Amino acid sequence: MTSWEQRERALHTLAKEVGYVKKPHGNRLRVALAFPNTYWVGMSNLGFQTVYRLFNAEDDIVCERFFLPPKQELAELSAAKAPLLTLESQTPVGDFDVIAFSVSFEWDYVNVLTLLRLAGVPGYAAERSPRHPLILIGGAVTFVNPEPLAPFADVIAAGEGEVLIPGLRRAVAAATDRDDLLRLLATERGFYVPSLYEPHYADDGTLAGYTVRDGVDAPLPVRKAALKVTDAVDPPATGIFTPDTEFGSRFLIEVVRGCANLCRFCWAGYNYLPVRAFPTDRILQLARDARTHSNRVGLVSIALCDHPDIERILANLLEMGYAISPASLRLDDLTESIVRVLRESGERTITIAPETGSDRLRRVINKTVTNDEILDRADLIFASGIENLKLYYMLGLPTETDDDLVAIRDLTLQIRDRMMKYGRPKGQVGRIIASVNPLIPKPGTAYQWLPMEDPSIVDRKIKRLRHLTAGIDNVFFNIKSERHSYYQALLSLGDRRVAPAIAAAERNGQNWRAAVDEAGIDGDFYIFRDRSRDAALPWDIIDGGMKRAFFEAEFQKSLREEWTLPPKRAQENARLLPVIQ
Ligand code: SF4
Repeated sequence: MTSWEQRERALHTLAKEVGYVKKPHGNRLRVALAFPNTYWVGMSNLGFQTVYRLFNAEDDIVCERFFLPPKQELAELSAAKAPLLTLESQTPVGDFDVIAFSVSFEWDYVNVLTLLRLAGVPGYAAERSPRHPLILIGGAVTFVNPEPLAPFADVIAAGEGEVLIPGLRRAVAAATDRDDLLRLLATERGFYVPSLYEPHYADDGTLAGYTVRDGVDAPLPVRKAALKVTDAVDPPATGIFTPDTEFGSRFLIEVVRGCANLCRFCWAGYNYLPVRAFPTDRILQLARDARTHSNRVGLVSIALCDHPDIERILANLLEMGYAISPASLRLDDLTESIVRVLRESGERTITIAPETGSDRLRRVINKTVTNDEILDRADLIFASGIENLKLYYMLGLPTETDDDLVAIRDLTLQIRDRMMKYGRPKGQVGRIIASVNPLIPKPGTAYQWLPMEDPSIVDRKIKRLRHLTAGIDNVFFNIKSERHSYYQALLSLGDRRVAPAIAAAERNGQNWRAAVDEAGIDGDFYIFRDRSRDAALPWDIIDGGMKRAFFEAEFQKSLREEWTLPPKRAQENARLLPVIQ
């Protein structure tokens, strides 16, 4: 594919967009912002859209986007060795001062390297020189455990863009050269410069800890940067509308950040604390402004109803003529009025996450709802006229037994009874789709020391659950095997030594088994080992705000089947606030 063809495609894409920013480059800091997946996926990502807006809101920065080209285009570009261009001005990506990646999923790590290759930039930081752009990697995944990506990044941005961008500007303005810039960045909150730190390993291969390199002034650990309050901050919202995304021209907006339910497996819950609501008036103003471009609003929050004004927000959005789709709903959010709003917005399916079928196991993971409450919610949903339900369950939870598998089947059958009760008289019975995923213990959770369950046990449980749930009318179980999660777990739990496997997977077309062999890595070491005696964990390099002692206590309570009740919203929030100060 020639540069001319790339330019034509970029212009074609821009012609369908509303809201992109085009600035002259002049003396501005030039940032090429990448989403390491396709345009279709990336433009649905609110974090990506928000960073684009935040960069371009600064007069002295110009930010342009680029994405992973679709397969065919990618092959043509690689073959032609034509430089990868940004969308807005079709400038070679390699000519920018900074290449910033917004990474949301472990599976996109290889795509970071593909994009660097297409841009003509060496993948490893150690192979680059100051004439290359500064490679900055940020996004949700990296501030949980950035280590597998550390050798590829000059800088890792750990935390929320609203706080990070001013720090980047300060460092760039003051720096005399690249080394100076890295050292200055390291002193700004939330910036982790991997080359300034050295990991140390014990004889058994476990991580012994990190040290800062001699003569360097850098914090250890690096403290995550997060907004303390959101009262005066514009909520992240769709700034560029295009029909070519997963959600079409839906207007996405974040209403409230974080979730205080403290489920013990949930990194999103722990890592976005405390719960912070965005200002109601700005939410409504932005929605009003976007109304000409969109007639459906997607509310992107993991704990939507923790916004103190949620009823007023929903009523106003309906009044504006929006149909409303929440990205996810907690079970305790499903009140009568919320379900009615969803029904009026034309939703025919609701997704809920019981996680497991037994109240006992839900106490283990601190999911503070009971089967009775779940069945009440199912009643409410089906009574409203919504026909279908998606359920999320997990397998391989601590203390799980065969009885808990039977409980998954039984709860699903009871939910199905509710569906039949309302569907049959209307002659219109919907369906239940239940997804079951093996638990991957995540960094920054109470389960961060746990090994993944032994594959032979998981296989047996999967077979048993398949047998238990086979042939139930109108119920479809989608049970993911442990093998599928293996490499995702490796990327989630790994340290810097995993990086060569990512590079090999990028070269060999993502044959992960071969890549791990080629890199000489023992994947089981990272995935199936109990880490509770390790001196340090790879992700300890970032201080996410939650203390080790808290996670240890939560883990012990988990084994005792004890709740940690969700904090009582505002009042408890004040208590949690110090974690990010
Ligand atoms: S309810 Fe639990 S699983 Fe859901 S976002 Fe909150 S903490 Fe996470």
